[in-house]
Amino acid sequence: MSPTRPSEVRALLAQLGFKPSRVLGQNFLIDANILRIMLDAADLSPRDAVLEIGPGLGVLTAPLLERAGRVVAIEKDDMLYAHLARTLAPSPTLALLHADALDCDLAGILAGGVNKVVANLPYSVGTRILVELCRAAARPERMAVTVQREVAERMAARPDTGDYGVLSVFVQIDYAVSLHKRIPRTCFFPAPQVESAIVVLARRPRPAPIHDDAAFYALVKGCFAHRRKQLGTLVRNDSALARADIDPKRRPETLSLDEWIRLCNALA
Ligand code: SAM
Repeated sequence: MSPTRPSEVRALLAQLGFKPSRVLGQNFLIDANILRIMLDAADLSPRDAVLEIGPGLGVLTAPLLERAGRVVAIEKDDMLYAHLARTLAPSPTLALLHADALDCDLAGILAGGVNKVVANLPYSVGTRILVELCRAAARPERMAVTVQREVAERMAARPDTGDYGVLSVFVQIDYAVSLHKRIPRTCFFPAPQVESAIVVLARRPRPAPIHDDAAFYALVKGCFAHRRKQLGTLVRNDSALARADIDPKRRPETLSLDEWIRLCNALA
């Protein structure tokens, strides 16, 4: 069993001679209650194949192996990977990869049958990884991930709020997103500088009716780069705006998901 108590984590890190790196977001979970909440939020069964990015000391990986049928875990750090390989592998249901998740073919891993993602994501790359997972053709049906609290708020934000932006639209277009649980800094060792939150993403039953995915992402990104400008100025196509039934005086931050879809399809 992997350690969750602060004293055990500290002792293990000392034994390994390991100094956590801020660049790699190495803040280890030391709260058994938060661990249980994350695992429950993932709603796992032996039929599930789970992707974990950044297993660290294996605090999530070990219970994931107990609850799911298969786990793919990607760890970038040499020393942590070696520790996991010693303590968890070989296991017929674990694929432990020593790699930078940003260099991995995540879409390919998902296409290979992975249907859930459970991870305490490293701060620096968490958002990029989530967007990549949400955009994959075989996107996971459920994700329970820990991210920086501000990122969680942007993911779950509604139109007409300061947090609503590219990330909100990119993740909500195919997922119902909920900020499941706020996590104080003290639940990690070493304590990070910012608060975290568990976000749960449940894939919508049907994919969004977007005609051209690449055009959709480019439109949303391009418009939010000037979120205070009017859409008439941004898209310069009043007839498309009329077809989408959107007033050219509106600003990007006010558009609902349906309106983004209508606008993109009208522009196509
Ligand atoms: N899962 C562990 C836990 O909850 O205690 C560790 C989580 S810690 C926030 C993030 C982990 O991601 C670290 O183990 C770190 O080495 C790893 N990591 C950081 N960047 C990574 C990357 N680009 N690819 C894969 N793993 C990465």
